[in-house]
Amino acid sequence: MAKVIGIETGPEKLRIVVANTITKKFKTSYYGNIKIETMLDQIFDEVKKIENFSGIGITVPGILDLAKGKLLYAPSMNLRNVEIVKPLEDEFNVPVLLYHSTIASVLAEKLFGAGKNAKNLVYINIGTWIGTGVIADDKLILGKEGNAHELGHSVIDYNSSVKCPCGEYGHWSAYSSSRGMLNYTRLLLDTKYAGVKTLLRSAKNLNADKIFSLAKKDKVAREIVEEVGRINAIGTANVISAYDPELITIGGYLAAKHKNQVLTPITRHVKKYTINKVPKIMLSPLGDYATIYGAIADFL
Ligand SMILES: [Zn+2]
Repeated sequence: MAKVIGIETGPEKLRIVVANTITKKFKTSYYGNIKIETMLDQIFDEVKKIENFSGIGITVPGILDLAKGKLLYAPSMNLRNVEIVKPLEDEFNVPVLLYHSTIASVLAEKLFGAGKNAKNLVYINIGTWIGTGVIADDKLILGKEGNAHELGHSVIDYNSSVKCPCGEYGHWSAYSSSRGMLNYTRLLLDTKYAGVKTLLRSAKNLNADKIFSLAKKDKVAREIVEEVGRINAIGTANVISAYDPELITIGGYLAAKHKNQVLTPITRHVKKYTINKVPKIMLSPLGDYATIYGAIADFL
């Protein structure tokens, strides 16, 4: 049985990788527009089609109870208290490893990506949520229940009226996750930019991707992308102050898709917000695949 399976879950998406542990060849499948309610059934259906595998690694973006193999709360998916490990172990009779998505990503960065030689490495996910996976002094940092990855919910502004997907205000994710960026833009259009002409106002089905594209021709959109980038720089500076990493890699779907628009403002502003020596900060070479590769990293 030279096969292992990795499963990446996220809002509306599911990715499954089948990896050969000998040849190290991967076959990845992507499923979009998934309804949360049917995601677990779909995982079972897809895994049942795969034969002769010896383990499953699964990633979820949320607060975990690692010892119990449960997801406690995933704000980006509006899920609470879901048993993950036991149903999969019962059905498939193989070891099942549960990871937070960003923890899996930093493992992948260390094993397959830019962090091979780094003893102090942080992976920052900038996408449907903000999260941080940390390897410090060559050890993966997990925390008491496995939740040392939630700097996305650290407070950027305690007086903020920008609501985070978790329901609280002023968190890093409230501004810079894909949904957060849209909420923040709408707020700015009604306040700072009230009455100012901008293509953002007439854009149909506005979302984070459109804000990034409009920034190439619209001044207000460009200023908002810069401001969100400054907030990402503040979050990144907090990461540097906390962990003093030698390398920070930035991944997640917004970073993978809008590369320099995400990275450049971070590198431009980060120095202002930390007194530590700023480490190398780069886009993850794994693009949007860090999480799914991390799901199988411990089996290889
Ligand atoms: Zn939050």
